[in-house]
Amino acid sequence: MSAAERAGALLTIDLGAIRKNYLFLSGHAPGAECAAAVKANAYGLGMGRVAPVLADAGCRTFFVALIDEGIALRKILPDAVIYVLCGPFAHCEDDFTEHALIPVLNDRDQIARWAEAARRRAAPLPAALHVDTGMTRLGLSEDEVDDLARNPDRLTGLDVRLVMSHLACAEDGGDPKNADQLARFRAARQRLPWGKASLANSSGILLGPDYHFDMVRPGAALYGVAPSGNAPNPMAQTVHLQGRILQLHDVDSPMTVGYGATYPVPRKGKIATVSVGYADGYLRALSNRGSARIGAVRVPVVGRVSMDLITLDVTDAAPELVHPGAFVDLLDPIHTVDALGKEAGTNGYEILTGLGTRYARRYIGGEA
Ligand SMILES: *Cc1c(COP(=O)(O)O)cnc(C)c1O
Repeated sequence: MSAAERAGALLTIDLGAIRKNYLFLSGHAPGAECAAAVKANAYGLGMGRVAPVLADAGCRTFFVALIDEGIALRKILPDAVIYVLCGPFAHCEDDFTEHALIPVLNDRDQIARWAEAARRRAAPLPAALHVDTGMTRLGLSEDEVDDLARNPDRLTGLDVRLVMSHLACAEDGGDPKNADQLARFRAARQRLPWGKASLANSSGILLGPDYHFDMVRPGAALYGVAPSGNAPNPMAQTVHLQGRILQLHDVDSPMTVGYGATYPVPRKGKIATVSVGYADGYLRALSNRGSARIGAVRVPVVGRVSMDLITLDVTDAAPELVHPGAFVDLLDPIHTVDALGKEAGTNGYEILTGLGTRYARRYIGGEA
């Protein structure tokens, strides 16, 4: 029996949809290079399978968060341009050069360290500069930008390929913070005029051409997450998660369901126990709040999510679809990662990146 056949839950990842999303986003920023963020194992979907599909669709430049993600990606894509967003910690300069990874330099110390590495090697080293325009997370402050512009010798030995910043509120096109960050980025760009410029993540692409500069850096939207909070989602859905029914219970008041007895059964009905839990990334916050689908019928999560199991009220589902061994849809093109994220009080990003390692994974649509 194959792992998929005996699995408690099956995660199908549509590589064709990821490819389509890449082409959609690059088509929306025709003047810019379209890079891809593949950090966190391509947002949980498997960098080893996803990155080659993106490369095949035309992507040349990739962003990861951590150096070890970069080392792993280098093995998959020998020729790609790979930026590491966290930059170099002390003493790992050789790891960057050995694997031809380009650090994103976020502060004065990282710049000094990388420039020192270039001097030691007596050869220029490529780098990106990250400017903070309002996120207050990573990047050079306005003072540091000023200082660099006045003392460009601090960059001696560095081949600055990219100057970038990151938007805080891009999923809301009406937020005035976007225009403010755009103005700050333009000002910083005038002072640091080297290499390419990049500001937009997924949501930033949909803010329009002012935000595209030379390169856009989508992540989430490639994987189906809605880039805009207040418009229909134009992205193709990439994940289908199915959990298997293990057991059915005929219930009636005054029974209760699950740990803590948080769900008093209100009426005569049927409960299905499904083989997915918080250890799979099915968040405990979905207790008494999440939902799944059986056929076209929405079935609510009742009781607490436990480590390996959830319980669904399947009273209203078609009886022929409800039996031990049958699959219920936990994520599908209608009940998306964004929808499940909303039920859990979080977003689609967290649902995606939390997708567990116990699911039997199946990839479809990989061929060009
Ligand atoms: C993660 C990340 C991206 C991609 O953002 P999405 O919202 O997933 O499109 C782009 N740039 C930086 C700096 C990031 O950290």
